[in-house]
Amino acid sequence: MEWNISSLKDLEHYFWRCTACGTCRSAYDFGPPPFTRPICPAGTEFGFEGYYSSKGKAAFARGISDGSLTFDDPEFLEAVYKCTVCGGCQNQCQVDYKPHIPEVIEAMRREAVKSGAGPMPAQKNLVQSMKNYNNPYQGPRRVRMDWTRPFKKAKTPIKDINTEPAEVLFYVGCTGAFNKIAQAVPQATARIFQKLGVAFGILGESEVCCGSTAMRVGDAEEFKRVATNNLETFKTLHAEKGVKTIVTSCAGCFRAIKKDYILSSEYNQMMDGIEVLHTVQYLHRLLKEGKLKFEKELPWKVTYHDPCHTGRHLNKFRVDNDGSELWEGAYVSVDESECLYDLPREIIKAIPGVSFVEMDRIRGNSYCCGGGGGVMTGFTDWAGKNAGLRIQEGMETGAEKMVSICPFCYFNLTEGAKRISSNITLHDLTELIDLALPD
Ligand code: SF4
Ligand code: SF4
Repeated sequence: MEWNISSLKDLEHYFWRCTACGTCRSAYDFGPPPFTRPICPAGTEFGFEGYYSSKGKAAFARGISDGSLTFDDPEFLEAVYKCTVCGGCQNQCQVDYKPHIPEVIEAMRREAVKSGAGPMPAQKNLVQSMKNYNNPYQGPRRVRMDWTRPFKKAKTPIKDINTEPAEVLFYVGCTGAFNKIAQAVPQATARIFQKLGVAFGILGESEVCCGSTAMRVGDAEEFKRVATNNLETFKTLHAEKGVKTIVTSCAGCFRAIKKDYILSSEYNQMMDGIEVLHTVQYLHRLLKEGKLKFEKELPWKVTYHDPCHTGRHLNKFRVDNDGSELWEGAYVSVDESECLYDLPREIIKAIPGVSFVEMDRIRGNSYCCGGGGGVMTGFTDWAGKNAGLRIQEGMETGAEKMVSICPFCYFNLTEGAKRISSNITLHDLTELIDLALPD
């Protein structure tokens, strides 16, 4: 299977465009009321004017490409990895052609891995775990099924799709399966599906990591290995078990399948007849069809955190490449039709009793939880500290609950709340849906 993954050289046209103007320092909104707040977690923690923000990263790319910078310097290597690849900078940047900073950062990391220096030591363990166990959490395969124990106990076991056909494959993802706190996400998802009578199954012990983390830290070879395996599995499940829809509750898995897997030359052929949905899309459809009916009241004040991977990672910037609209290279508009901004909010607002409040930084301006891009593994302390900043923003709204649609954000924001002794509790949207449905 051929993969069309850009090299740093392929992106040269973009990283030379960065003018170091610093527009990407802040999220801004004209309001009313207008506001501006920091958007770059790396710049916030390590200094925007240093080498840690987008403009520093663009300068790094130039240095690597002209040979004046190498990964022998551990401080330089660390600076390349001190970025959550959240895409906040990319959204703010107004420069011609958009400098594609997150893609440039990942391409630099691929160079670092190729040179033998990257990724960071803790991230190397993560990738080694993928090679040994097909997951980044150093968990034996049987542990992948631990989250299903309450279903076995309640005598409502979840179908193993390898042995029982089903139209829907619930692709659980490694964080939901292995992380004790995030296990609440697949558990709530499966409970909802059972309550609604959805014909679904899971891959169980044979599920393989989506490869998102490997891709984010620059190990393209490991990404390709697991992604190829998954595409072949999906094709077989479609042909032999009748799978038509893959649903995932994980923002990282969703982004990987939607945006990284399409880099395969065989994506269309392997995925022919299969639709990939985030749980929130699947359930929103059922809500519109009148099949998802809430009964119980949840008397909570709730705010919503947009994960980067279901938000701006899925947008598309329209650039006037031939100069026919404005001028050559002009940034014209952003297409956010694939970003999951409205659906979760519509579901939250449909739950009886919920009072919904927004934070300042939302949708394309969302402030990353701090866990992405390998940061939660590589720089755990910083990830938790950054999550505390996001929780602080949630507290400003007076909300008692912060809701999201990603097990990774769920875990990291929970850590952030603990860290600043906040009373805000974290919930995945599936938990609220499960609680609001009749038993
Ligand atoms: S990435 Fe764009 S907004 Fe940020 S410093 Fe470079 S040119 Fe300016
Ligand atoms: S991707 Fe996010 S953390 Fe990285 S430089 Fe851009 S805004 Fe900062």
